[in-house]
Amino acid sequence: MQSFNKKNIILGLCAACVIGVLPFIVLRLMDRLWLMVAVDSTALVGAALIGLYVIKSNKLRLASVILTALFLVTVVLVVNIKGPSLIYWLYPTMITGYFLLKPGEALIVNILALFAIFPIINTQLVLIEQLSILFTITLVNVFSYIVFRSMAGHQDVLTQQATQDGLTGAGNRRLFDYHMEPFFASATEQHTPLSLIVLDIDNFKAINDTFGHVKGDEVLCAVLKLLSSRLRKFDTIYRLGGDEFAIVLSEASCDAAVSKAEELCHLVNRDPFCSDIKVTVSFGVAERHAGDEIQELVARADSALYRAKEKGRNRVCGEWVVPAK
Ligand code: GH3
Ligand code: MG
Repeated sequence: MQSFNKKNIILGLCAACVIGVLPFIVLRLMDRLWLMVAVDSTALVGAALIGLYVIKSNKLRLASVILTALFLVTVVLVVNIKGPSLIYWLYPTMITGYFLLKPGEALIVNILALFAIFPIINTQLVLIEQLSILFTITLVNVFSYIVFRSMAGHQDVLTQQATQDGLTGAGNRRLFDYHMEPFFASATEQHTPLSLIVLDIDNFKAINDTFGHVKGDEVLCAVLKLLSSRLRKFDTIYRLGGDEFAIVLSEASCDAAVSKAEELCHLVNRDPFCSDIKVTVSFGVAERHAGDEIQELVARADSALYRAKEKGRNRVCGEWVVPAK
């Protein structure tokens, strides 16, 4: 969920680097400082390429690592070439690391960068200047680390609250929608089948009315636990709302998904797994077709579930297959 923001941050930094460094390249060219021209040009081209890479691949983690390294190496080189008068570039560059990496990682790479420029500071500045630089760099890193760590903690809590069902702990509808996109992309790229099982507890209102809402809640949790225990590691289950759940089966055809749903249906049926309350579940199954939109797959699984309910509940229905002419 954070990736949209992160992508914008990376692209913004790449654009800022390209726009910000260009005038310096012109100035260095006019002064015939060829080494500086080479370093600045490498930073500019590198940032532009990383920006393009992010737009094309969406691989944000790798781009963040490379961009942080590019910025820090550029500043370290510039300070080594032109001397400590350019050390003020190190401050914003170090803060940039906290936007791109985890706080602990940014702290470590910033300490390494400090080691890399230390010989220049040590040989070219008097003690009071050296201490001032070390002190201010330490302050910038300590403050940034504290702020970004606490922000990351809040972000984790907010993400969890926004994507997890509070009662059962399963992913919620928002997470389901969010996950379906990469599932579809990977199935298309790798030419593998992808199936969806939608399931709904039968006559759940009656369970609530007879045993009360608290028992109803327990049934919801118990159903989720029971079903989850029979899924593969990479299958995912979500609570879409009320007493309706969805299971996404990667690399599973409709037939395989129907078999899995039948296994789950019998499992729920076999013995009373929650306080002796008899629970049954209906299942609708559909497989992704080439060119499907996510909503089309969901609609087909939903209509299969609707048929399972119509036929008397406690059963599995696969999607309609159009007979070949
Ligand atoms: P059907 O077999 O047609 O599905 O009948 P049903 O009675 O299960 O009907 P439906 O699926 O529409 O009912 C869902 C019920 O689930 C309605 C609502 O009161 C109840 N419900 C929704 N969320 C919760 C919850 O968090 N806890 C409890 N205990 N009940 C809930
Ligand atoms: Mg129901």
